[in-house]
Amino acid sequence: MFSNEMYELGAHSSVIREIFEYGKRRKAEIGAENVFDYSLGNPSVPAPPVVNETIKRLCDTMVSTELHGYTSAIGDQNVRQSIADYLNKTYGTAFSAKNFYMTAGAAASLSITLKALTEPGDEVILFAPFFPEYSVFSKAAGATPVIVKCLPDSLQIDFAALEQAVTPHTKAVIVNSPNNPSGVVLSEQTIQTLCGFLRKKQEEYGKPIILISDEPYRELVYDGVKVPYLTKYYDNTIVCYSFSKSLSLPGDRIGYILVPDEVACSGEIYKAVCGAGRALGYVCAPSLFQFLIPACLGQTGDISVYKHNRDLLMNELENDGFFVAKPDGAFYLFLKSPEEDAAAFCEKAKQFELLLVPSDSFGFPGYVRLSYCVATDMIERSLPAFRALAKAYQLKS
Ligand code: PLP
Repeated sequence: MFSNEMYELGAHSSVIREIFEYGKRRKAEIGAENVFDYSLGNPSVPAPPVVNETIKRLCDTMVSTELHGYTSAIGDQNVRQSIADYLNKTYGTAFSAKNFYMTAGAAASLSITLKALTEPGDEVILFAPFFPEYSVFSKAAGATPVIVKCLPDSLQIDFAALEQAVTPHTKAVIVNSPNNPSGVVLSEQTIQTLCGFLRKKQEEYGKPIILISDEPYRELVYDGVKVPYLTKYYDNTIVCYSFSKSLSLPGDRIGYILVPDEVACSGEIYKAVCGAGRALGYVCAPSLFQFLIPACLGQTGDISVYKHNRDLLMNELENDGFFVAKPDGAFYLFLKSPEEDAAAFCEKAKQFELLLVPSDSFGFPGYVRLSYCVATDMIERSLPAFRALAKAYQLKS
């Protein structure tokens, strides 16, 4: 009568959502100011002013039927060319409009790309900790996710584990830097080693392995940390980009897929992307938000707020004796659970009204994720609760 697989996905909401819902109930019981909710990755800084200004200008100046009408399925030509120009200027690349396919955010970029690339029997490597939907999108595309755990503490790639996991069935490898859930940025050294490793494997198997770079947090980095632009390191790179976090527009659903000319069979893959977008029912990316993009390229919300939040929390947690993986970007901290069972630690944290997410669903047990895209004063109010939690575990205080 219905698809069991889809039923399972729909019936069991994510742990993150469950905690978020618990938070809503708890806030109603004891007052919102007394609950310290670190569960969701919803940007807390407003979109930069250029967003609203441009939307108003577009509404005032564009013909309504064009502004709100369908664009071509791949996205508006001028919008795609403006993104190409911006990337070429910023990273010294040589893209043009034909390399881009506009999407409804990174989730759409990823699900379309995986559907375009894979066939049943293909494997997709996911580095844990990873965004849980990678597994959902890979399976929905008919591929098999293969999990490779990152090195403990540094959370850089474990190449010995990767060597064990790659097979002639490996079709793609997904990287996400800065990372959700850890905030870790892959170092240039790690990227170079990864690309060298993939080139060697391509040669050994006589077939391409695609590196999918999932980049919703590219611009969210602190202290001058650089995020290598992967198409410059490895020819078979496809970028799945989103403006959700950089422009604080997660509900408006806008992003793109970039298939550079250097990718093996790039023309055919681009067509397969068009086909996958069609099969999945993405008629075109939201038009108003496509037309917004040229004016906003290179802009972000005020990310100094995230840096301030990160520093505030990091200081407290380290002083309390917790271990936190080095978070150079995004707006997440990945904290080592002081007991083996991270879910039990999260339950304990709830006693102090701290809502944290256990790392099991990110494929990397033993940690918890804190989303610090929250009001700074909530963080300040929560510091005594972290201190008390550390004390309950008799950590150094
Ligand atoms: N990839 C990662 C790593 C994410 O954290 C998210 C959202 O949180 C997405 C993809 C999906 O982003 P979007 O809102 O652009 O679909």
